[in-house]
This record gives sequence, structure tokens and C-alpha cells, in this order.
Amino acid sequence: MAKIQMTTPLVEMDGDEMTRVIWKMIKDILITPYVDLKTEYYDLGLEYRNETNDQVTIDSAEATKKYGVAVKCATITPNAARMTEYDLKEMWKSPNGTIRAILDGTVFRTPILVNGIVPYIPSWTKPITIARHAYGDIYKNVEMQVPAGGKAELVYTDKDGNETRETIHEFKNSGIIQGVHNRDESIGSFARACFNYALDLKQDIWFATKDTISKKYDHRFKDIFNDIYETEYKEKFEAAGIEYFYTLIDDAVARVIRSNGGYIWACKNYDGDVMSDMVATAYGSLAMMTSVLVSPDGVYEYEAAHGTVQRHYYKYLKGEETSTNSVATIFAWSGALRKRGELDKLPELVKYADALEKATIKTIEDGVMTGDLYSMSKLENKTKVNSEDFLKAIDERLKVML
Ligand code: NAP
Ligand code: MG
Repeated sequence: MAKIQMTTPLVEMDGDEMTRVIWKMIKDILITPYVDLKTEYYDLGLEYRNETNDQVTIDSAEATKKYGVAVKCATITPNAARMTEYDLKEMWKSPNGTIRAILDGTVFRTPILVNGIVPYIPSWTKPITIARHAYGDIYKNVEMQVPAGGKAELVYTDKDGNETRETIHEFKNSGIIQGVHNRDESIGSFARACFNYALDLKQDIWFATKDTISKKYDHRFKDIFNDIYETEYKEKFEAAGIEYFYTLIDDAVARVIRSNGGYIWACKNYDGDVMSDMVATAYGSLAMMTSVLVSPDGVYEYEAAHGTVQRHYYKYLKGEETSTNSVATIFAWSGALRKRGELDKLPELVKYADALEKATIKTIEDGVMTGDLYSMSKLENKTKVNSEDFLKAIDERLKVML
């Protein structure tokens, strides 16, 4: 079989530890035998980030803007322990944070469902995608702990020096205060990323805040979503047969639990932080969660939701066998290749991406899986395999499909 040709390179962001090991295996076993892979390669491994003073992360994000589609391996976000482990010049920022800021993107997380692994909420037969706003609110807060006998005020000084004031609280006793903000522009970008992604997936989108209590702050989110929907998306949604649905956050939570899945749930920053962990856990495994960063101007960066699986990497370094689940990383590649295929009008590449995902799911449904899934799967006949044999088992099925 002739290899499938690509016309535009994918931006490839390599990463760290066990996921870096798996990254190469996926390419060698499942991709390059079938696709004449064109990538522009950026090494986001911590050593090279340190060597380039993190410039490589910025360059990779700029390249993503230029080409439109990237695939990213999990990377270490340095902490104190990593400073010594890697002899770092600085505690470099989270690459995901840097890339997200440059692309002004929204992160969408979707679980991969397979037969034999039943969600903790068994009625969730279809995936729920969480979209989390990635700017502001308590993540950019200013807080104070204050002594008794004072007054806290909210003061806005406009460009001419005029002040608008609101009393927050008169403190008879000691207490705490917090200031949070968001920007109309960022909320608008979030709304557009959500509506575009809903059109992409042809799925309904839900959005919820607490606007009955937060009559200005949360209400502003609701209004901006509504205005953008009415003026820019309503007709497209009607043509696609999908719906935009707004409700209160507590009502949304109740509806989500009762639902069968199959929609996107847009969340404010904090709600998204909390709800994405709840949803991921309920569906079973972080190793089965895909993640895609979508910018308001339609740039896509695909990755797995999990980290670098450090514990497995240390075993690997000692020459011990590992059984690391590569599914989310495979789906990052298939997602990016499919998007490239759609943008460049390469139906063979789209077909390949579909087959790669089907072969991966079929492998697990045939009972061949890594340790994490083995302990959860309800299948009667199942075998636990190591990291590499899992990929080879997928390839056996992929060969037949292609
Ligand atoms: P992690 O790498 O996601 O792993 C946490 C645990 O979850 C693992 O020890 C493993 O459990 C299980 N696990 C996760 N992915 C798995 C997979 N593919 N196959 C099998 N088991 C899997 O999170 P972490 O240990 O908190 O973080 C490690 C490093 O990753 C950190 O340096 C962090 O900065 C980085 N990180 C990066 C990203 C990103 O780039 N997007 C995201 C999160 C964290 P067992 O050990 O029990 O088998
Ligand atoms: Mg969290």
C-alpha cells in the first residue's frame, strides 16, 4: 500500500517522561508505516525548554497559529523537585498555560467510551465534553484577610480619574475579602470557541452560571453568550440541527446527572476545573480523556488530558515492564491528522484517522488492554499487555481495516 500523503505539516510538540517514550512508539508502530508524516517538530521536553529559556514553547505556539493544527505530548510543569532533578535555570511556566495564552484558546475534554468499561453513572452512554473558560475569576483574584473595625469597598477608577464605589462589607469583626474580574473580550472568545466546536461536533451546547445570585458578573456571561449566539450562530445552529441551551448551574448539574451524554457543557473557569475532574472520574480513567485547545479563530491543538505518567517512567528507566495506556495520546494524533485531512481536503487521511480510532477501541473491546483498564473492564475474557504490545495489537487490527 502506498503511504498516505500530507500537504501541510502538523505542528508536533514532543514532551516528557513515559509519554515521550510512548509518543515515539505510536509514530513508529501506528503512524509512519501508513502515513508519509509531515511535521514541524518542536521539542517541549523539559531539558530543551530549559536550554532555550522556554523559547521553544513560544515558537511552537506561534507555529500552531501559522499552520492551524498541532499535536502535543504531555509535558512536565516544573516544581521544586523538578528544579533539582533537571538542574533548571528557572521554574519554567506550564507549557499548556503558555500555549493557551498565546492561542487565546478554550480547552475541550472528551472521554473515549468503550464496551466493558461502565461509567460510574451508567446512564452516560454517550460522552460529555467539558469546555472550560481558561481566563479570570478566582484564578486571577486579589484577596485580603482583614482585621476588625474597617470597611471594604469596591472602587473603579475610570481613565479620567472618576471613582465608582460600592460597599462590600463593614467589618465589625475580622474577615476575608476577594476581588475577581473577567473581560468581555475573553468571555466572547470563549463563547465563539464553544459555538464553533459545537458546530464541528454537531452536538448541542449547554452553558450555565449563577446569574440569579450574581446579577451583574455572571449575568454578563449569560448576556455575552446570548448576544453572540443570536447575531452570529443562530442560523448555523438551526441548519446543523443543534441547540444552544442556557440554564442555572445547579439545574445544569441535575440535568447532567440524569442525561445520557452526547453534548458539550461549557463551564466558567472554576466550574470547569471541578466538573472536568468529576466527569473524567465518572467515565473511568484519565488515560481515556482527550483534550483539544480551540482558539476563537479556529486553530486546534490536540493532546491527552493526563500527565507524563512519571511513576511508569521510573520503572521504564529501571528496565522494568510498563503497561501504560496510550489511548488518549493516540486519539490526540488521530484528532490532529483528521483535522489536517479536513482542512487540506485529504479524504484518505481522514479515513486513516477514523480507522486508527476504531482499531484502538476494537482492541480494548476484544479484551486486549493495559493495566489501568484491565482492573476496570467488565469483559470476561481480557488480557493485560505491556505498553508496546498494546500498540502492536492495535496495529494488527488497523492493518486489516486499511
Ligand atoms: P499523571 O501523569 O496524569 O499520572 C497520575 C497517575 O494516573 C499515574 O501515576 C497513573 O497511575 C495514572 N495514569 C495517568 N495516565 C496514565 C496512562 N496513560 N496510563 C496508565 N496510567 C495512567 O499525573 P501526575 O503524576 O500528577 O503528573 C506527572 C507529570 O505530568 C507532572 O510533572 C505534571 O506537571 C505533568 N502533567 C502534565 C500535563 C500536560 O502536559 N497536559 C497534565 C497533567 C500533569 P499509577 O501510577 O497508579 O499507575
Ligand atoms: Mg482541577
